[in-house]
Amino acid sequence: MTMWCKGSKLASTTVQENFLRELKRFSTGSVLNKKHSCKLLIVGGGSGGCSVGAKYASKLGKGNVIIIEPSEKHYYQPMFTLIGGGMKTLENSCRPTKSVLPKNAVWLKDYVVKFDPAKNQVMLKGGDTVEYEFMVTAIGLQLNFNAVEGLVDALKTPGVCSNYAPEYVTKTFEDLKKFKEGNAIFTFPNTPVKCAGAPQKIMYIAEHYFRKTGRRDKANIIYNTSLPVIFGVKKYACALNQLCDERGIKVNLRHNLIKVDPAKKEAVFENLDSPGSYMTLDYSLLHVSPPMSAPKVLQDCKELVDSTGFLDVSKDTLLHKKFDNIFGIGDCTNLPTSKTGAAVASQLRTLRLNLDSRMKNEELTAKYLGYTSCPLVTGYNSCILAEFDYNGAPMETFPVDQGKERLSMFMMKKYIMPELYWNLMLRGYWEGPAIFRKIMHLGFR
Ligand SMILES: Cc1cc2nc3c(=O)[nH]c(=O)nc-3n(C[C@H](O)[C@H](O)[C@H](O)COP(=O)(O)OP(=O)(O)OC[C@H]3O[C@@H](n4cnc5c(N)ncnc54)[C@H](O)[C@@H]3O)c2cc1C
Repeated sequence: MTMWCKGSKLASTTVQENFLRELKRFSTGSVLNKKHSCKLLIVGGGSGGCSVGAKYASKLGKGNVIIIEPSEKHYYQPMFTLIGGGMKTLENSCRPTKSVLPKNAVWLKDYVVKFDPAKNQVMLKGGDTVEYEFMVTAIGLQLNFNAVEGLVDALKTPGVCSNYAPEYVTKTFEDLKKFKEGNAIFTFPNTPVKCAGAPQKIMYIAEHYFRKTGRRDKANIIYNTSLPVIFGVKKYACALNQLCDERGIKVNLRHNLIKVDPAKKEAVFENLDSPGSYMTLDYSLLHVSPPMSAPKVLQDCKELVDSTGFLDVSKDTLLHKKFDNIFGIGDCTNLPTSKTGAAVASQLRTLRLNLDSRMKNEELTAKYLGYTSCPLVTGYNSCILAEFDYNGAPMETFPVDQGKERLSMFMMKKYIMPELYWNLMLRGYWEGPAIFRKIMHLGFR
């Protein structure tokens, strides 16, 4: 705290600072706000933003990279599935943002509230603006819990949970423990989602948990999904359908959750193939994967997005379709592949090579094939490791049939992938398993 000393230089500085702070608070003009500028601006310091930042902060040197990220906490979201199943804690999945952002980059702890790509600048919630030569957009997607009637209130009541957000994920295991009997319902929304496997992974874990704790015969397990198939890739869909048959899980396709009534413990689903017809189910446990969308700030900038509101980039080069100094990575883009951290890692290589070329005014030659991966955890000791490309063709790393449940893949998901994420990916050293795939298949893939 500054001491008040009449007449001293310190006192007058403090008065001046306070005056300026107050003036800035009440000022509607922009004279007191800062104008930052940089060679490379990265918007979002999640999986994509951190990895790109790590690559370029050392390459471009101190102060040339600015990362805008509002959150003080960085979560390894793929761990949320294991937290929901009681296998990890929320603390295991979280590190301070400061510790994962590259030291050479400038971190502005703020939100972008407006993109102005024609002027090469963004506006921040605190009033500052940032001008850039190149920008990488990595702001993920937005969870819209309030798009389902009654859901936000229902999430405060016993039996309703969601692995999708850090504020709810620890409740999932609490609710699994409290479950006694009745319907245990798991949902998949009628929107793009991140990690398309996550809505059903927790269901298989719950099913196994009820078996382990002697309550399986009391549970009626139901998967209500908006999709017309259980999974978008045929090979893994066959395996999962068989799994559901064997474990007595009822799958209702094309059913979208529209309302939750916590007082009656009822969930209402619309039949998407028969608009206006509804299915109402009572629940003892309801795990909700919420509707998701591109962040509103992105949707609001029509020059940057396509008709779905996601960043409009070339599916091959990741360069924006209109602005040749803007690239996108991760969940906020309209890349037609499954939105996962694994996809981000693979996109990083393409982005790095093409951004380097763009900075040198050379042609872009690197091409992203849509590689993505989803470790479909099917219990406390098994996992199907799905890996595929834009065409839904499997791109498996290991020389075994990855369509089968395996303990080895589960161990990798639980122990190896988190290390890979914190120590390699966020430091810019992990660009997907392409090299290992080649080695494991003796150079033939
Ligand atoms: C339950 C669950 C399970 C998952 N399982 C897996 C899995 O097994 N394997 C896998 O590969 N992936 C999995 N994922 C998906 C994976 O976590 C995401 O695909 C990945 O984090 C996407 O990275 P991103 O950088 O695009 O977005 P994020 O990592 O979400 O980062 C976006 C960042 O942008 C910031 N931001 C938002 N708005 C603004 C703004 N206006 N201004 C500035 N910054 C902003 C946010 O604070 C955030 O830090 C899972 C996700 C969930 C929720």
